[in-house]
This record gives sequence, structure tokens and C-alpha cells, in this order.
Amino acid sequence: MGTDEGEYEAPYVVLATGADRSIAENLGCETTDDGVVDVGVTMKTSVPNAYATGAMVRAEEWQAVISAGDGAAAALNVLTKERGEHFHDFDVPADAE
Ligand SMILES: Cc1cc2nc3c(=O)[nH]c(=O)nc-3n(C[C@H](O)[C@H](O)[C@H](O)COP(=O)(O)OP(=O)(O)OC[C@H]3O[C@@H](n4cnc5c(N)ncnc54)[C@H](O)[C@@H]3O)c2cc1C
Repeated sequence: MGTDEGEYEAPYVVLATGADRSIAENLGCETTDDGVVDVGVTMKTSVPNAYATGAMVRAEEWQAVISAGDGAAAALNVLTKERGEHFHDFDVPADAE
């Protein structure tokens, strides 16, 4: 991926550019009829290993906590892919194990 300061390679990219969807569009991510980046609950875009979060995936139904949650959903999906099984980042009470 190109930036003002050079080219970078990464196994995954999580986009969080708010209402500016140009990077996602340049990457080839599909958009919906509303013009937002098309993702499901894991925040995966149509481009493999590219995620989109927050205002770029919602038609003005924006809230800070939703955007933060989108980032968490994307991160958990990356961790699940890397581990090869569902990844949980919460503690389990000792008597529930
Ligand atoms: C006026 C207003 C008031 C709001 N008040 C509330 C509120 O009270 N409570 C609430 O929960 N929500 C509020 N919201 C909504 C909240 O701000 C958004 O839901 C949230 O900020 C979206 O987060 P985001 O990470 O998707 O995008 P943003 O917060 O917009 O962050 C995107 C970031 O990406 C950067 N960026 C974009 N393109 C590039 C690029 N090419 N290279 C590098 N950086 C780039 C931008 O500069 C920006 O810093 C308000 C929104 C507005 C407009």
C-alpha cells in the first residue's frame, strides 16, 4: 500500500479513515448502494485481508463507540485467522473452565 512516505506491505490492513472512503475504493473494496464500504459483522471487505471500520461503513449512523467496536471486531477476526480457531480475549471465571 502506498503512502506519502513510501510503500508498505502488511498481511492485513484495517481501514479507519472515517467518511473518506477513497483508500478503500482505490483498493477495490466493493461499496453498497448507499456508497459505503460493504462489510459484514467481521468488518471484512470484498478484498482479502482488508477490513473497513467506523464511518466508512455506515451511512451517517455514526457513533464513536460503534467505530471502536468495529475495530475490535476486525482485530478479533485477524486473531482468529492467525490462530486457526475462534479467538477470545476475555478471561473466563475459574469455576466455568
Ligand atoms: C459534529 C459531529 C459530532 C459528533 N458527536 C458525537 C458524539 O457526541 N458522540 C459520538 O459517539 N459520536 C459523535 N460523532 C460521530 C463520531 O465522531 C464518529 O462516529 C466517529 O468519529 C467515527 O470514527 P472513525 O474512526 O470511523 O472516523 P474519524 O473519527 O473521522 O477518523 C478518521 C481519521 O482518519 C484520518 N484520515 C482520513 N483519511 C486519511 C488518510 N488518507 N491518511 C491518513 N489519515 C486519514 C482522518 O484525518 C481522521 O483522523 C460526531 C460526529 C460529528 C461529525
